[in-house]
Amino acid sequence: MINPAVDPTQSASNQSSGTQPIAAADGTILAVRGLVKSYHKNRIEVPVLRGVDFDIEVGSMTSLVGRSGSGKSTLMHLMATLDQPDAGEVSFEGSRIDNASARQRDFYRNHQIGMIFQFYHLLPELTALENVMVPTMISRRLFSFLRVKKTARQRAEQLLEMVGLTHRTHHRPSEMSGGEMQRAAIARALMNNPTLLLADEPTGNLDSETGHGILELLRKLNDENNLTIVMITHDDAIARQADRMVRLENGLVVDQGEAFRVIR
Ligand code: ADP
Ligand code: MG
Repeated sequence: MINPAVDPTQSASNQSSGTQPIAAADGTILAVRGLVKSYHKNRIEVPVLRGVDFDIEVGSMTSLVGRSGSGKSTLMHLMATLDQPDAGEVSFEGSRIDNASARQRDFYRNHQIGMIFQFYHLLPELTALENVMVPTMISRRLFSFLRVKKTARQRAEQLLEMVGLTHRTHHRPSEMSGGEMQRAAIARALMNNPTLLLADEPTGNLDSETGHGILELLRKLNDENNLTIVMITHDDAIARQADRMVRLENGLVVDQGEAFRVIR
């Protein structure tokens, strides 16, 4: 099986940053502190997050659980630096990331974290293989991409094999089932060898059996490859597949959740 810790497309010059998990001294990979976020609708302020705090331990699988509308996706956007909080901080491997430069935030999103979503967000005109190669393409200039294209292709093929999708390598999303599309999205999320995977309702659009297969794959990535995973879900039964549940209610964490599995 492929070891995501070894990325053949990473040149020696950028190998030091982002490819090895460098936890803060206490083993925290991501720290969320006092996050506040409101939206404005017709000049009325709608508070969504009202001071959210939690830590994600390196190597753990944590679920963020809460009712629909409780602010889970908003929180994921802030953890991914896709949006900025009104107040509070997000730190990755001990350093503030929420207020980092645009360049640092691009690096964080492209290399240090991976993301998957309920509706996969694959590019419809590309095959599974091409979709998986997209992160290598967008993080490099053309000549740099052409130089690593062959190794990137090999890595993409290995990742497709790891997620059980070799038979769909040259298929487009319209020719794939929901579970297959999510597997392709997982392979794409791993392409640049992230240390943290953020998953927003990864089984939300799948029947329970297919969803179970995706959960098993995420568990395997955590157990065998030590990938740190934050999984967002509104479903307690799914949330319980993680090591720990963090519960969000009315914009606050109401339960930090004891780790109910021993973190390996
Ligand atoms: P969840 O993912 O838990 O279902 P969200 O974070 O998507 O919750 O949304 C939380 C609340 O914020 C909801 O009431 C939603 O309508 C509102 N909201 C989310 N995104 C926006 C936005 N871009 N503009 C205005 N309101 C938003
Ligand atoms: Mg959501």
